[in-house]
Amino acid sequence: MYIISTKAMLQKAQREGYAVPAFNVHNLETLQVVVETSAGLHAPLIVAGTPGTFSYAGTGNIVAITGDLAKTWNHPLAIHLDHHESFDDIKQKVKAGVRSAMIDGSHLAFADNVALVKKVTDYCHRYDVSVEAELGRLGGQEDDLVVDGKDALYTSPQQAREFVALTGIDSLAVAIGTAHGLYTAAPVLDFDRLAQIRQQVDIPLVLHGASGLSGADISRAIRSGICKVNVATELKIAFSDALKTYFASHPDASDPRHYMVPAKAAMKEVVRKVIADCGCEGKL
Ligand SMILES: [Zn+2]
Repeated sequence: MYIISTKAMLQKAQREGYAVPAFNVHNLETLQVVVETSAGLHAPLIVAGTPGTFSYAGTGNIVAITGDLAKTWNHPLAIHLDHHESFDDIKQKVKAGVRSAMIDGSHLAFADNVALVKKVTDYCHRYDVSVEAELGRLGGQEDDLVVDGKDALYTSPQQAREFVALTGIDSLAVAIGTAHGLYTAAPVLDFDRLAQIRQQVDIPLVLHGASGLSGADISRAIRSGICKVNVATELKIAFSDALKTYFASHPDASDPRHYMVPAKAAMKEVVRKVIADCGCEGKL
């Protein structure tokens, strides 16, 4: 099994006190960089994509390339459905070979979120697919979904306990002050709330919106129970900045085998930094 669920890898992270990074990939080059870098450091890896990414790159392509990279590097990989909102969409992607899903009902009322997540979890567990859900609401933009800062809501520890018990999920994404996208002001994370959630909930906790957080914040979040750290924006910026710089000095460049080299090198630095912040080198 080269494409695996995230259940065992996140439970191991929880036992041993580190986090597994989930990198949002967008194309062949991003996939190559996150897999090659993680394999070189013997670090566990979750390859993530939003619904928009799976539409853009093709679900079959992502599954086939990730599976092939896993075999090539002898490195079991999880493909994770990030911020998916449709049960039918998740079913189709499970049939295509994906073994890890986030069902995001965080915009729904509590009872409706529970009902949707429970339905997805019951289905996914029949196929050894791990399920992440979110309680509370992050600000910022993910895919085509924009949440105004004032609509962002922090996760309630008491509700988290009830939510996990009612749904049977494998991991819980918490809202403790992070946002999707880049931060305009330094984020202030509610570590007390995170510690309270940890006391109420015994499954791995997930931190979304980690792009731009300091290494110290990530380390502290891991010590307080975070086992999965999501990174998307930082990779996109490294990739596109390096391309812009390259084309500025090579305006006639036309060969992707040349102009992708600095773009991949820039992403590799981000991946190495996140793996160091997560403390997961050598933890495969
Ligand atoms: Zn997210």
